[in-house]
Amino acid sequence: MADAWKIVESAFRAEIARAHEGLFTLGSGYLHVRGSLEEHFSDAPQNVEYTRLPANVTSERFPETKAKWGTYVPGVFGPHPLLNAEMINLPWFLGLAPIVDGERLDVEKSEIDEYCRELRLDDATLTRRLRWRTKSGALVAVEFERFVSAAQPHVCAQRMELTADRPAELRIETGIDADVRTNGHDHFRRVVLRRLRGCGIGCRVETDGGDAVELLTRVGGPDQDWQYDETPRAATLQADVKLAGEQKFVVEKRTVVATSRDLVIRPATDWMRQAESLSYEQLHAEHAALWRKRWADCDVVIEGDDRAQLALRTSLYHLLRAHVPNDDRVAIDGKGYAGEAYWGRYFWDTEMFLLPFYLYTEPERARTLVDFRVNALGGARKNAERYGYAGARYAWESDADGDECCPNWQYADHEVHVTADVVYGLAHYARGAGAEDYLRGQAARVVVETARYWMQRLDWRVGEDHPSLLGVMGPDEYTPISNNNAYTNRLVQFALQLAADVGNAGGASAEEREAFARAADGLPIPRHEDGILVQQCEGFDNLADPRFDEFWRDRSRTFAEHVSQERLYRSKCLKQADVLMLMMLFPHEFSDAELRRAWDYYEPLTTHDSSLSACAHAIVACRLGLIDEAWRFWSTAAAVDLDVEHGGAAEGIHISNAAGLWQIVVFGFAGLKTALQSDLLTFEPRLPAQWSRLAFPVAWKGARVSVEISREKLAVVNRGDVPLPVCIRGDTRTLDVGQAESWALSTPSR
Ligand code: BGC
Repeated sequence: MADAWKIVESAFRAEIARAHEGLFTLGSGYLHVRGSLEEHFSDAPQNVEYTRLPANVTSERFPETKAKWGTYVPGVFGPHPLLNAEMINLPWFLGLAPIVDGERLDVEKSEIDEYCRELRLDDATLTRRLRWRTKSGALVAVEFERFVSAAQPHVCAQRMELTADRPAELRIETGIDADVRTNGHDHFRRVVLRRLRGCGIGCRVETDGGDAVELLTRVGGPDQDWQYDETPRAATLQADVKLAGEQKFVVEKRTVVATSRDLVIRPATDWMRQAESLSYEQLHAEHAALWRKRWADCDVVIEGDDRAQLALRTSLYHLLRAHVPNDDRVAIDGKGYAGEAYWGRYFWDTEMFLLPFYLYTEPERARTLVDFRVNALGGARKNAERYGYAGARYAWESDADGDECCPNWQYADHEVHVTADVVYGLAHYARGAGAEDYLRGQAARVVVETARYWMQRLDWRVGEDHPSLLGVMGPDEYTPISNNNAYTNRLVQFALQLAADVGNAGGASAEEREAFARAADGLPIPRHEDGILVQQCEGFDNLADPRFDEFWRDRSRTFAEHVSQERLYRSKCLKQADVLMLMMLFPHEFSDAELRRAWDYYEPLTTHDSSLSACAHAIVACRLGLIDEAWRFWSTAAAVDLDVEHGGAAEGIHISNAAGLWQIVVFGFAGLKTALQSDLLTFEPRLPAQWSRLAFPVAWKGARVSVEISREKLAVVNRGDVPLPVCIRGDTRTLDVGQAESWALSTPSR
């Protein structure tokens, strides 16, 4: 049986090295580092300058290289000539290379007869073991281990153990390399390197974003005479060791990173002192204990299907890693701090995909995400003003200040639903965390100011007695400029209604609130003439047939890679769920017939070119009782980052898809209704045939429960400190504190 707590790379292949690099990213929330090999390669320079032109995000190709280092501290952004701001890739500190009898380890070129790399998900530790036959004839066993400490989030600890079967000359090389680029761009104004007393290196970088970043690295192990060497952007330490045959040599390395924008400003030397007060084992033990505690709050156990279990745990691991604790000045970027593809920006993904996972597992973490939007209100105001509107309009692609960074006018100008999604997220947090007062504090300003923006963004067309939202792009980015997009309109209705309800706390007058309510009531949800089909937007039906059979020959590649953008735009093809996304969020507002009609109409037109599509489809399929279809979308989503053969996480983790996987399990298969869908904690379980048991914890309005679902029954234990009513398939019972209760599931739902 496969171990569902480990991702394993059992042989090295250069073609898929970058996909593993992304997949094996380690992080503490504060500091993230891609899973690059400690010894690197002899031919994968990291200082190549190129212009990554803004392109259609779906079909963009990235420079071919075996390795793309990535060191990220969320919030460290720098200016870009075309892109406003991007998250900066910081100096690489992992370097730890063995050179035996004059030959440098290079897993692609050296003779390697055993190789195994494992990311242990339970304690977030990356290990690699290999056996290397050197040209001199020595058989060298090498073991690497590393982790970014959850307990000391500024610290990365590494260890290398090496044993040769005969006497050999070993040289160890380690260092910090600041000769790196971000998307081909140089963000470092100044790099200052220095040797620290003994065996350490200091590297201070001043970024073009105005931040100072300090890295300190220290090597420990048996006493060696370390030689220091420096080039303008990199510093190395080297030591020569005479290895006796079968003698184990161990070297440890600790690196700390601190920046001028840290929440707690302390010199890096302080973090280093703290890290050095513990042995490697002690440092690892405190790190592992914290990870175990975090897993207890969120782990989902799937029995009967190890692949599904591993895929879900991999996603949860990255969600746990990517969240920055206590820091509401940042959210989680589109690639989960594991790559440069989305330039480190924040999208609507935050509210609609990521937030629910944290909200229903660790609500304190959800709080920082919603607070981030409240803090970014200044950027949203600026953005509204730039477009000539009052109020606040959130950026389609936001940096930490909330400024618009999206280089593509289609998305930046038209994909306005994000502004309503932000408000939906605030309300979801308030309801789900049982913190209704939240909407009466600072968040109320967001609700009111965004409503003011909507009031100016609406149009009243001649001859109509209701407002319309014209010239928008819905979630489906292949229909760029449309009128009355159903998803956008419903979310704007939601936002305006909320502003009518709680707007007085945000400074809206009674008159204004009345106007918000009227506009909310008047916004149409377009329908086909049959009255059942919700139209994605007005006139959607008049678009051209996408002619998939003719143009989409290779279904393993996106449709956008086969046709021009112009064809995407004039055809009925969808990039991702749009009406179905709406129905996923507001299922109680649509009849089964409407849901089914929308499914039958839109699913065949949807290319699923965005990884955000599968989750909404799987959840709607569950509601429709289409469990095989739900399974099909689950399987697609589960493979996204693990499928290293097709790129996987090469450019970063698809973090919203990762959160979507959790949603498929909890909202789809377990059928949890969100706090915006039901006041009562409610489950409508529909387990896929492949699973025999599903168990997970849920945080619900300040309470906590654990849930267990098998074919026969659903059991809930109230782990909170107040009695809690729970509703399973219409049968509501109130559970006392500590009480366990089971519901028989003898008759299948729907
Ligand atoms: C999707 C957007 C999403 C973005 C970041 C795009 O491909 O179409 O909906 O917000 O990726 O994940």
